[in-house]
Amino acid sequence: MSHSPFVNLPDAQGYFGRFGGQHIPPELKAVMDDIDAAYEEIRHREDFQQELAELLADYVGRPSPIFHARRLSTKLGGAQIHLKREDLNHTGAHKINHCLGEALLAKFMGKTKVIAETGAGQHGVALATACALVGIPCEIHMGQVDIEKEHPNVTKMKILGCKLVPVTRGIATLKDAVDSAFEEYLKDPQQFIYAIGSVVGPHPFPKMVRDFQSVIGREARHQFLERHGCLPDHVTACVGGGSNAIGMFTAFLDDASVHLVGVEPAGEGLDTKRHSATLTLGKPGEIHGMACYVLEDDAGNVMPVHSIASGLDYPGVGPQHSYLKEVGRVDYQSATDAECLDAFLMLSRVEGIIPALESAHAVAWALREAPKLPADQHILVNLSGRGDKDADYVAHHLGL
Ligand SMILES: *Cc1c(COP(=O)(O)O)cnc(C)c1O
Repeated sequence: MSHSPFVNLPDAQGYFGRFGGQHIPPELKAVMDDIDAAYEEIRHREDFQQELAELLADYVGRPSPIFHARRLSTKLGGAQIHLKREDLNHTGAHKINHCLGEALLAKFMGKTKVIAETGAGQHGVALATACALVGIPCEIHMGQVDIEKEHPNVTKMKILGCKLVPVTRGIATLKDAVDSAFEEYLKDPQQFIYAIGSVVGPHPFPKMVRDFQSVIGREARHQFLERHGCLPDHVTACVGGGSNAIGMFTAFLDDASVHLVGVEPAGEGLDTKRHSATLTLGKPGEIHGMACYVLEDDAGNVMPVHSIASGLDYPGVGPQHSYLKEVGRVDYQSATDAECLDAFLMLSRVEGIIPALESAHAVAWALREAPKLPADQHILVNLSGRGDKDADYVAHHLGL
């Protein structure tokens, strides 16, 4: 066991310092404790580990490569920029890593149905994919408003054979989809399992999703050492709920020389109310069954959030990130919608890689910082996903 103050978390109650836990009704707590007990047993089983490792290799296409963005680095005239290519995974983003883990766990637990909500549809598509592969029925709840906005993802989910449940209550977006999916789940939590889409929610989900995503950083650390004989000086990733970032950071937490940077969406500006920079401007609170940083308005209500990247607009954030901010191990910064669009185009035109708008936030940080750093320093960017889903929107927005 490591003596690291960062790695052996959460504690048995699901806390990272004062963040995390199970801020839920007692009957739900019993259900979550069952999942935790099953997870702790199953994850150490050799048949589980072997099946997961095979699928990550032959189905997802891991390990994803690290690409040295030489033209971009030269153009900026500073530190060397390297990209961990999660965009090359099957389905085009990091989400498949934890969806496969969750679907496989469901199979090993003998569950008959996997239930989830989705906002923009990215989690829905990744989960429907994993459930098709593993052979478990999957039910995705999605707000009617989002269904009308996110046509390609809705179509993909239907093709993949999941049951798509349109949610018309409330304002028919993500929050209502969460409520609807949870109601369905509570009808039979013995037979069903809920699959959360990031390192959020009550314990054990922040831990489980982190464990499944940690393959990113384990690979990246090994790949970088092997290629360059040293660790990167800076490692950066975008933060919505925080799964791709924690997946990348976990392997580097004990490497004191590595500057870890989480990049939040500053939207139209930190001085406007149109952003989603939870760790930058929020304060400790509670949301979706966990203690974490939360963005609230002056009256103490959860703030309506905004980002050009729909995968980043969440008013809470993973409890482990909340802890890593508080103890100062990770530096949380932000990038605006405008910086993100610049980064999206720059990476597309200088390297021929179209990034997801979410990932473009981390690229934007690298573009901002690289020119200030010497040419023998290395920045490793987690490129969490590809930008095909955003291409039409960006082209329209920029009048291309
Ligand atoms: C969903 C998504 C994100 C944001 O989720 P995290 O849990 O913060 O990683 C980031 N990038 C891509 C490509 C996504 O699809």
